[in-house]
Amino acid sequence: MEKVAVIGAGTMGNGIAHVFAQSGYSVKLIDVSTEQLDKAIKTIGRNLQRQQDKGLITAQEAEAVIQKIRTESDLPTGVSDAELVVEAATENLTLKTAIFQQIDQHAPAGCILATNTSSISITKLAAATRRPDRVIGMHFMNPVPVMKLVEVIQGFATDPEVVRTIETLSRDLGKVPCTVKDYPGFIANRILMPMINEAIHSLFQGVAGISEIDTIMKLGMAHPMGPLQLADFIGLDVCLAILRVMQEGFGEPKYAPCPLLVNMVNAGKLGVKSGEGFYRYEPGKKESIPAF
Ligand code: NAD
Repeated sequence: MEKVAVIGAGTMGNGIAHVFAQSGYSVKLIDVSTEQLDKAIKTIGRNLQRQQDKGLITAQEAEAVIQKIRTESDLPTGVSDAELVVEAATENLTLKTAIFQQIDQHAPAGCILATNTSSISITKLAAATRRPDRVIGMHFMNPVPVMKLVEVIQGFATDPEVVRTIETLSRDLGKVPCTVKDYPGFIANRILMPMINEAIHSLFQGVAGISEIDTIMKLGMAHPMGPLQLADFIGLDVCLAILRVMQEGFGEPKYAPCPLLVNMVNAGKLGVKSGEGFYRYEPGKKESIPAF
């Protein structure tokens, strides 16, 4: 396999394009927004410079990575000769379903269609195509060039041969694949989100303050970041949406989001991206202080 198309040039898409290009694949990076495409190439350049500064790659190697990536704003053209498409567009079922129908129409027959979705059913996206056996989840973690895990998600109809191909390819990218079945939250979010939700419940019930909860989990469990700070980084709206998917998908009350999380999202306090969540973030300041 040589030719990969990545759809969506946001936070995840630029990282995914970066790691494929660094492993020698020719990458078409596709986005509806040319501004996002320009921004993505600049971000990849900055991240390559960082790898160079750390002595991990040479200037020639960095240049070779950039040369491997072409940008494209027309999806049908971008996927026309792809052997693998990795979709990393905005997390929205209607949008992703339409994108999968479009890729299915324009990508070559044997092409594998992967999605980086955090919470949408792979089986549902696969059912929107004429090749459900070749649709799979390839869940990279943020930041993609740094994080080693790829959660590989086998949809209801995914061919086991396609699973093996994606596992091998993930290892080829220097990642560690872990294959799981397609149920709400897969494994990463199914375990992470209830932990975050429980931390928010503890705060809501006044059991402990923000700093105490995060410090206990950092020092007591050797987590690099406390659950409330992690929720701020992920985005409180994203955490809420994933909990809702699990609540609906399993029909179990244990996944119901804490009312404090719902209130904070309603108030526009979304974490780092809005400047405030459980902590307050000021531009240029590394230290964050609890918001309440
Ligand atoms: P983002 O908002 O940073 O980027 C999404 C990009 O998709 C934008 O550049 C947007 O212009 C583009 N887009 C929207 N509609 C499009 C279309 N029709 N065709 C092509 N491009 C289109 O989002 P992100 O954080 O990079 O997330 C992308 C996916 O990765 C989501 O499914 C998300 O759930 C998943 N994910 C995100 C993270 C994370 O930490 N951010 C981690 C794992 C998985």
